[in-house]
Amino acid sequence: MPHYEITALRYATMAARTQGDNFLYPDDHAAPMPIDYYIWVVRGEGRTIVLDIGFDEAGAKARGRTWIASPLDLLRGIGVDPAAVEDVVISHMHWDHAGNLLGFPRARFHLQEAEMAYCTGRCMCHEPLRRPFEIEYVTQAVRHVYAERVAFHRGEAEIAPGITLHLVGGHSGGLQIMRVPTARGWVVLASDAAHYWANIRKRNPFVLLHNLEAMLEGFVTCERLADGPDHIIPGHDPLVMQRFPGVAGNPNAVRLDLPPIG
Ligand SMILES: [Zn+2]
Ligand SMILES: [Zn+2]
Repeated sequence: MPHYEITALRYATMAARTQGDNFLYPDDHAAPMPIDYYIWVVRGEGRTIVLDIGFDEAGAKARGRTWIASPLDLLRGIGVDPAAVEDVVISHMHWDHAGNLLGFPRARFHLQEAEMAYCTGRCMCHEPLRRPFEIEYVTQAVRHVYAERVAFHRGEAEIAPGITLHLVGGHSGGLQIMRVPTARGWVVLASDAAHYWANIRKRNPFVLLHNLEAMLEGFVTCERLADGPDHIIPGHDPLVMQRFPGVAGNPNAVRLDLPPIG
């Protein structure tokens, strides 16, 4: 089995968040609980795969997030030219994961059929379900469909030797996670299947839900596919930046294929 290198890149943050914003069942509703925004890069075997592409600066401004750097610039900072990337996986179409669809002119976008159906279907007639989507980003994804640049998946798919996508849903209609073989074992990039380690470890889901049952089953799937609790990488947890080895000269990058340092 090949071993890949995984880098998490943090492109935005928001300090003014509370447990009530992040847990369905908060212990202390008003307790501070900041959130970070990431994309992930998997490299090895001559391949570069980007998981999620973040929002843009206008999106950060519109929704009150603190901008750190463009995900595209962060990629360039670790030697990845977005214009050369051939495979981009979109875990789900929420605004904070799908806002730079024009930044990868050569890429195929890997997406679950269920997610595209969800974000363009009848559920979007309901404001609470529509809120985490951005119509311009969704429209761009539709344009990519018409340009034959979307690789649709229905459940599990192997997109490179050893690297698989898994449909879990729950948080969004067709959310998928990614499993990657590394030198420290099987790592699961959970994206929003678990925003924080605390969501999965305490079985206390994030507030934004499409289907609670699928969300809880998704936790089980993450645990089944990963080699241990520290092999599940949550999608928004500031602890990720603290717990994994950094990349020299880059305060917003950490290596997830290496063992945690704390
Ligand atoms: Zn989401
Ligand atoms: Zn998210």
